[in-house]
Amino acid sequence: MYYANMNTIFTCIRKRKGAGNVSKKNNISSILLATSLFFTSCGGEDNPVNTSVDIPEESKFENPISIEAVDGLSDEFIFGCDMSTLIAEENSGVVYYNEAGQVQDPLKTLANNGVNMIRVRVWNDPFDENENGYGGGNCDTENAIAIGKRVTEYKMNMFIDYHYSDFWTDPAKQMCPKEWDGMSIEEKSDALYEFTKESLGKILVAGIDVSMVQIGNEITCGMAGETEWEDITMLLNSGSKAIRELAEQYHKDIKIVIHFTNPEKIGTYAEYAKTLDAYDVDYDVFATSYYSYWHGTLENLKSVLSDIIKDYDKKVMVAETAYAYTYKDGDGHKNSVSYGAWGEFNYEVSVQGQADAVRDCVATLASLGDNAIGICYWEPAWIPVPDNTYMTRSEMWEKYGSGWASSYSSDYDPEDAGRYYGGSAWDNQALFDFEGHPLPSIEMFKMMAGTICSSK
Ligand code: CA
Repeated sequence: MYYANMNTIFTCIRKRKGAGNVSKKNNISSILLATSLFFTSCGGEDNPVNTSVDIPEESKFENPISIEAVDGLSDEFIFGCDMSTLIAEENSGVVYYNEAGQVQDPLKTLANNGVNMIRVRVWNDPFDENENGYGGGNCDTENAIAIGKRVTEYKMNMFIDYHYSDFWTDPAKQMCPKEWDGMSIEEKSDALYEFTKESLGKILVAGIDVSMVQIGNEITCGMAGETEWEDITMLLNSGSKAIRELAEQYHKDIKIVIHFTNPEKIGTYAEYAKTLDAYDVDYDVFATSYYSYWHGTLENLKSVLSDIIKDYDKKVMVAETAYAYTYKDGDGHKNSVSYGAWGEFNYEVSVQGQADAVRDCVATLASLGDNAIGICYWEPAWIPVPDNTYMTRSEMWEKYGSGWASSYSSDYDPEDAGRYYGGSAWDNQALFDFEGHPLPSIEMFKMMAGTICSSK
């Protein structure tokens, strides 16, 4: 995920989730899918599902969505959600409900709706010298542990996303953690190894079921301040070494994920995979972001991921995706995608559109076979903090880190976050409404798995 610097955004990258509207459009052609897909009957034996949680017989929504089950999904297929800002949201007074209108942990609501993995990002030290958080959930190791304990309670797996920075990273911004500033690449490599051992070690000691760990976030243009592949791959292998050692120590099957973005940029994914291979990077999953309004066609996505499976026998996944259900903004901080804004809406902007966008992406992955292991919906619960005015909401963003960035981030990122800080740029892409009630689109995971039928 990323929040790019305004000055670099046009030279490097295509998307920006944080600050306001950037008027740049990608030309995204129509989605080509349906003719190559085959659908199972609902609840068929081809789609075994996790039955450890209660399953509703039919939709509890007045205006439910309708999508077909996806053929060819393995029972291991990952339906994930990134819930990194959850605790900052709760601390700010956000309350989440279940389908019956009762207050309920959104992690439980997601688990009940077929989600089987939760992704959480980890920054090394997202605080200034006075311990004021930079925002975006103030996502340090302790935050991951607090969320992870609940995730494990609901029998879901954890996916840890190490940015190896003190705040947001993305293709335009890969700032080194403060503590690593001025280090040689060898020193930085050692520091990354030690940080991973310590952080992931704490998470595993806490009894959290970690099944995937990501080394770097959208490292298309660099990582931890390094931009040469020789250096980046040295860092990646330090991370891998730490994860493999911990997996062995704790008897865990932990898949190692490397995450890129902008699959629409011709030839880049093949080049990244070739580079990882050339430098003997030890990893299991080649992951990508895929936001349909920014990242080209699904036909292209299928093509580039298919080549990686074929040429390198790696697993692939979509580590981030989302879609808008409304043009409205719920908190006064402009959303990353909205009417007339950057990006091109190629599905209806509605709960049905959300489900259609995600289903088409999952169907594309399913068509690649078992090496395509899953998908993660990004920040489905990052909704407005409850108050009446921008000023009072702003106080909570500052105090609890529930906005995309706080003013304290100027300590680390003065040119972007420190200048454009504010609330949630994602509230119109959540799977909960502005008041915390689940949207009908939350049922899409079970519909795709064939556990529940469309009831429309
Ligand atoms: Ca907003």
